[in-house]
Order: sequence, then structure tokens, then C-alpha cells
Amino acid sequence: MLCGLQGTMEGDFTGKEMYHLNFDPKGYFSMYKNFGLGISPGNDERIRFILEHLHKTFAHDGIRGDTLIDIGSGPSIYQLLSACESFKEIIVSDLVEKNREEVQKWLRKDPNAFDWTPIVKYVCQLEGNRETWLEKEEKLRRTIKQVLKCDVTLANPFDPLVVPPADCVLCSCCLEAASKDVPAYCSAMKNVTSVVKPGGHFIFVIPIGATYYVAGQSKFTNLCVTPEMVKVAVKEAGFEIVHFENLSVDFPVELSDTKSFGFLVARKCNKA
Ligand code: SAH
Repeated sequence: MLCGLQGTMEGDFTGKEMYHLNFDPKGYFSMYKNFGLGISPGNDERIRFILEHLHKTFAHDGIRGDTLIDIGSGPSIYQLLSACESFKEIIVSDLVEKNREEVQKWLRKDPNAFDWTPIVKYVCQLEGNRETWLEKEEKLRRTIKQVLKCDVTLANPFDPLVVPPADCVLCSCCLEAASKDVPAYCSAMKNVTSVVKPGGHFIFVIPIGATYYVAGQSKFTNLCVTPEMVKVAVKEAGFEIVHFENLSVDFPVELSDTKSFGFLVARKCNKA
């Protein structure tokens, strides 16, 4: 059983209070601002890996439907650029108000919003340039219908709201950040996947072997997980694994000690 396995972490767990006080979206954007410039090879490789797998999952593997919920979105929208071609509605969510506000800024084209253009152009290329990058941005803006507060430690992460079950839930690099130990990780996994419809999909992007990552001036702890631990936790939450891919990365130590990134697609068993 998974709870017999050891997840490790370096330093004191940085919990919710730390996120509310110290998560700096502007600092976090440094992960994304040099994309394509050849300055941060391991990180660029990670972004390309995630974008390519999201593109393949939605465009070629036929995962589509009415609603997709992204849980722990941070201040980011890059993870939704392919999804907006396959879902009618997208809900974005995060614990931290400053992060939700960054997404709102991008939605309303605030001049101070983060510039995702290089990443948007890359996704358009993956899709064979069917759309221009401006059309792609507009499509994503139209598809994001809500930006909600969420907390993955709650049985209903959207409490007090009740969100209707979705065809797909996406979660990228959040549960490892939000969990202090393996039991908390398994519980967060059950919480976020509880909003997937039976037969629906869970798409999970996982920093493997990481004990920290940096956002601006602050360092946040990560639960150090292995692919095996992740797979067991996903199965225990009532899912069958459709696909798992792992990319080793030489990540810049000033950003994180992540050893590799996992990309997992799972389907909720009908009886769960
Ligand atoms: N998915 C984004 C952001 C990952 S960073 C991306 O891929 O870029 C980790 C995110 O987890 C942060 O935005 C942080 O606010 C969020 N987070 C941390 N604890 C959380 C909790 N208990 N519930 C929901 N989100 C949480």
C-alpha cells in the first residue's frame, strides 16, 4: 500500500499560509519568461514535453467533452492552450488570490498581464498553425468561464461551491506542492479527482524526485514522489492508468531539484 512508502521532503513544509503570504506570481513567471531563448534548457524541455503531451492527448487521443477543470492553475494559462480546442468550458482554480488575479489580468488583456506569446506560438505550431496565435488566445479567453478559489486539502476543493462533475480534471505540479506527506498526498488526490465524472479523465503533470521549487524570492517544499507512488495513488483514487510518460530533465538548481517530469492520463472507473 502506498502509505507504507516514504515520500521525502527537504526542510519544513511550506503550507497554505506560506502560499498566501509568499507565493509571488511575478517571480514564478521566471520559469516561463525565457521560453525558446535557450537560456534555461532543462526548463524549456519540461515546458515542451508538457505542451506536446497535452496536444497529443486532446488532439489525437480523443479526450474531449463539455467541461475541463484545471486545479492548482497558479498564475498560468499555458497548460490550457490545447484543451480549449477540445472542451466547451474551462474552469481555472487556485488557492492563492494573487494567482487568480494574474489569470484575470490575462483574460481582460490588462497591459500588466504576463506575456505568454512565445508559448502560445509554440502550441499553434504543434497544431499545424491552424489558427494564428491571436486567434488561439481569443479562443482560450472565450473558453475559460470561471476562475475559482480551490483548496486541494478539502474533500470538496471548491467549498462552499459545488462544482458539477467534469469530463476532465487537469492538475499540474500542484499536489506535490500542497502535501506534507504521503497520506496527505493520497487524500488530496482523492479530493481533486472526486470532481471527475465516471468514465472521465484525469490528466496529471508531476515533478518527480523534487524536494523544492522557487517562486521569486521564496522556496517552497515539494513532496518527493516516484512514478510508482504516483501510479498507486491514482489507482487508489479509483482510476485506471491509460498512459504514463516520464522525461528526465537537467533542471536549473536555482529553480528546482526536479529529476524528471511525469505525464499521466487516467480514466475514472465507472463503479468508483
Ligand atoms: N499548475 C501551475 C502552477 C503550479 S505551482 C503550473 O503548472 O504552472 C503550485 C500551485 O499550487 C501554486 O499556484 C499554489 O498556489 C497551488 N497550491 C498550493 N497549495 C494548494 C492547495 N492546498 N490547494 C490548491 N492549490 C494549492
